[in-house]
Amino acid sequence: MPCLILATGNLHKVEEIRSILGDGPWDWLTLRDFPGAPVACEDADTFAGNATKKAASLAQWLAQQPGVHRQHPVAWVLADDSGLEVDALNGAPGVHSARFAALETNATGNSRDADNNAKLLRLLNDVPDVQRAARFRCCIAVVQLSGGPCLLFDGACEGKIARAPSGQGGFGYDPLFIPSGFNRSFAELSGEVKNKISHRAVALAKLAQWLRTLPG
Ligand code: IMP
Repeated sequence: MPCLILATGNLHKVEEIRSILGDGPWDWLTLRDFPGAPVACEDADTFAGNATKKAASLAQWLAQQPGVHRQHPVAWVLADDSGLEVDALNGAPGVHSARFAALETNATGNSRDADNNAKLLRLLNDVPDVQRAARFRCCIAVVQLSGGPCLLFDGACEGKIARAPSGQGGFGYDPLFIPSGFNRSFAELSGEVKNKISHRAVALAKLAQWLRTLPG
């Protein structure tokens, strides 16, 4: 059976990806199944660039691990790079979404969601409701373990940034993001609704269509 290896240890992303793609004729593995795998440096200035780096670096490392190819002769590495673009901030936090708060302190690693959200609200404090348009973007990169080109699938979800966080679901900026056509944040909407309309759902629908074209 083919194997889909998710190049992320982010359990929220894993849960969303698995629930959107659903059960198929494939096995699932994630970065957590390979504790020694290197963490890709996300220094590209596009989501596509960072997704490609994450997928390619894990595929390259896995290809060198004894036994992986024998155990999974047909395997695809999938990497998600995603983030929030806010028009009033000229597209920030963008590719820096995961460490938006840390950009000011030079702290290493990702920032806490609460710190990122607090910074976003502070920067938008004087921005009126009609100018709070934003969108989530997602790019999924897919590469076969045995080599070949890296395929890219992208998605976006339009919305606006609320004046205060609300809701307990989801992760990241979900408590502040109100998708177009709704008056509740992603964190207030059910996972089922988010997984139908999100940036990740749009990108994964394209990926699913491509998966259906694969032989066997
Ligand atoms: P990445 O893991 O480098 O792709 O970082 C993505 C960051 O963008 C996350 O840490 C979140 O802050 C934000 N993000 C991406 N997708 C979502 C989402 O679906 N909801 C909320 N925040 C998200």
